Amino acid sequence: MSSGSERKDFAATKQMKTIMGKYFGDLAQAPQHGRKIAWCTSVGPAELLRSLGFDVYFPENHGAMLGATRMATDLIPLANAHGFSPDICSYLTSDIGSYLKGATPLQKMGLTGIPKADVLIFNTNQCRDVKDWFQWYAREWNVPCFGIHTPRAVGDVDELLVDYVGRQIEALVEPLAQIAGVPFDIDRLRSVISLSRECTLLWKRVLEAAASVPSPLTFFDGTIQMGPAVVLRGLPEAVSYYQTLVAELDERVAAGYAAVEGERFRIYWEGMPVWGKLRDLATQFMELKSCVVASTYCNSWIFEALDANDPFRSMARAYSSIFICRSDDQKERYIQQMIAKYRINGIIYHDSKTCPNNSNSRYEMPQRVRQAVDIPYLIINGDLNDLRLFSEEQTRTNIEAFAEQLTEV
Ligand code: SF4
Repeated sequence: MSSGSERKDFAATKQMKTIMGKYFGDLAQAPQHGRKIAWCTSVGPAELLRSLGFDVYFPENHGAMLGATRMATDLIPLANAHGFSPDICSYLTSDIGSYLKGATPLQKMGLTGIPKADVLIFNTNQCRDVKDWFQWYAREWNVPCFGIHTPRAVGDVDELLVDYVGRQIEALVEPLAQIAGVPFDIDRLRSVISLSRECTLLWKRVLEAAASVPSPLTFFDGTIQMGPAVVLRGLPEAVSYYQTLVAELDERVAAGYAAVEGERFRIYWEGMPVWGKLRDLATQFMELKSCVVASTYCNSWIFEALDANDPFRSMARAYSSIFICRSDDQKERYIQQMIAKYRINGIIYHDSKTCPNNSNSRYEMPQRVRQAVDIPYLIINGDLNDLRLFSEEQTRTNIEAFAEQLTEV
């Protein structure tokens, strides 16, 4: 059975729009209802924050919105003029530019602007930029900012590391409870962690549906569908959303539905999305009858180690196991497993200029992986948000040539 030539949206997406709309509406109303807002990095201790009653806001999600709406490129220079280099994280520079200009897509979601934090919590498991980013706002608003300092290039996530990170998370309880104005309740934390774990396992099932041939979804679908896993983890809404989506995917798989009609090639996307070009890239791959079936990026929100019976240490283990903070040999092993599991024909590495942390093509990894798995790869130069760093024409030509190369394999 085929999909038709146009991409068919998921019926579940309507439910996603409702829950995401409610999330932003709640954030908008939090101050007048006396609720506190905590900023959190994407793999920060969101479960702890929710258990203390904070509304949790994720600035990287805002960064992605600025990229997807193509507002970022005009906003970045404002942050550059303020002293942030054009070479550093373009989520950071577009977000701070957005704040300085007072222009944000959040205004369409009922907020007047970027929601003011009562406290900011970062985790350096992904990069140092998040610390600089959050500390800037802490100074701007004169509010507290705390962090978890996770080592990077981690080999095995051993007990020593879990202790080190787990204790840092535990040390946040007291200051956060004081700001929240509520006592810490370990049972509340356990129940949030349970919900978060449920969400994670369902999100994993969503992504694993793409192991079917043909795949019922693409990486580009994943970048949209991941919204609740990013901003609503730990809440029942996210669980119920992914239950609906998994059921729909099961139906698609049973019907042999192809997200890309006539799927010929299955591609792995390594690195950040190019947020402002998702639609164009999705269309090009569809025309080439190539399905980007899996990615490191979408899989980064799977936190299987979460365990309500061991809250702090399991959070530490889960947050320190993510791809971005692992050593190259661990990353290579992971990519090789993904290639086998998703029956990948070729890999695209996105070398994202302003995110060296999530670009893995700079230290010979593509060549090493190629040697191990013997499938072609392509490196594209671009950026997550700054479209001045992305050459549309060159990328299009390179992808076309890559598809040609796959035909010859
Ligand atoms: S990981 Fe990359 S994109 Fe994400 S906040 Fe850090 S520098 Fe920015």
